[in-house]
Amino acid sequence: MPAVLLRPHAQLGLDRSQIPSLAIHSQIIDELLAEVSEIVDPANHVKQLWHELKEEKELNPVKDNKHVIKEPWLDENTLPSCLEKMRRDDLEIVLLGTGSSQPSKYWNVSSIYINFFSKGSLLFDCGEGTLGQLKRRYGIDSANDTVRNLKSVWISHIHADHHTDLPRVLALRCDLLRGVPHEPLLVIGPRQLKGFLDAYRRLEDLDMQFLDCRSTTEASWNASDHEFESNKDQSASGSALSLHINNKRLQDNNGSFFARGSQMQSFWQRPGSPIDNSAAYPILERLKKMLLESGLEALISFPVVHCPQAYGIALKAAERVNSIEKVIPGWKIGYSGDTRPFAELREACRGATVLIHEATFEDGLVEEAIAKNHSTTKEAIEMGNSAGAYRIILTHFSQRDPKIPILTIHTCIAFDMMSINIADLPLLPKVLTYLKLLFRGHFCNFSF
Ligand SMILES: [Zn+2]
Ligand SMILES: [Zn+2]
Repeated sequence: MPAVLLRPHAQLGLDRSQIPSLAIHSQIIDELLAEVSEIVDPANHVKQLWHELKEEKELNPVKDNKHVIKEPWLDENTLPSCLEKMRRDDLEIVLLGTGSSQPSKYWNVSSIYINFFSKGSLLFDCGEGTLGQLKRRYGIDSANDTVRNLKSVWISHIHADHHTDLPRVLALRCDLLRGVPHEPLLVIGPRQLKGFLDAYRRLEDLDMQFLDCRSTTEASWNASDHEFESNKDQSASGSALSLHINNKRLQDNNGSFFARGSQMQSFWQRPGSPIDNSAAYPILERLKKMLLESGLEALISFPVVHCPQAYGIALKAAERVNSIEKVIPGWKIGYSGDTRPFAELREACRGATVLIHEATFEDGLVEEAIAKNHSTTKEAIEMGNSAGAYRIILTHFSQRDPKIPILTIHTCIAFDMMSINIADLPLLPKVLTYLKLLFRGHFCNFSF
């Protein structure tokens, strides 16, 4: 950061002498090699993996396993049918921030960039520093392009580590698109987020349209489909009913979720507040159109166990038809947001191609996880396994005592800027060994 100092008249202005010069790619690689010299051979092995994958695909075209494969990781050569003939420009998931609470040296706070390349992009959560992370990942000019091409931002809950950079992203988009015909950005989030953005909008134009997460639950989605089809003036009784059922289910088995007498326990004991979805139907219709343009079928928010109005999300791609007219099912991404593990989360993420699950606490801190409504590493992995997820990615690590958890074959820890191309998903377990090398020495407490 530039410092303002009292300086002789001839040297007026900011003292920039402490600002490091821009690092170039080869310099960074050289420094890394000097620091971890044994990484040279593994780096070549990793490159080789991609060649092997290509050859394997040519020799063994995907089996027709449209029927649910319960535990595909038991046979690493079995590819879920939704990954058949995926192209590198179909989907990339970029973990922009993988820490909890507040930004730290190693981990920024939550944000996941879902890139559909020419078909736009989405952001799941937008914690402080997200815009800076986009600039680090893509460079300043290309980061502007990513903001320009955003289709929607989805926010899981109102905690600061999940939404505070949103006004900066919205204001930048507004600037970049000034004078260009465009639609306001669709922001989907918890009810309290609207109050925050409305207050901010009194200071600066944010050029956005808000949709409450409650309007994108599965029941609201189905109710709106019915509304569009029948064109009747229905109230949102369906969605209100579903919210009530969701809350009722959570109340019925909340004994193990919450610390006794905690705020959350009393919150879940209140009946769910009904929502009038009829005003949201036109925005929902816009969302559906937008999803269709990006090759997506549904974006479903589901309530999770964390704080009032906290949600997880399931994003489902539309089916494709291959060259021999065979229907290829769409992939599915599940994201837990911040939560305790519970049955509805498992159902919402059932069969996910990728489940991104929070793992705030290490295994020995279950009581703390219960008290703060978070998950441990073990709980997150168990959730992914029981939901039949093909790949599990752990994120939202505690900044207090960073540890890399023990990994299982189909699970991967996320780190800031980790970019996962959907075409590389089968390779993910094979890269794990090399990740361990890369992180060695960077964290004081290792669990490998
Ligand atoms: Zn959080
Ligand atoms: Zn939280």
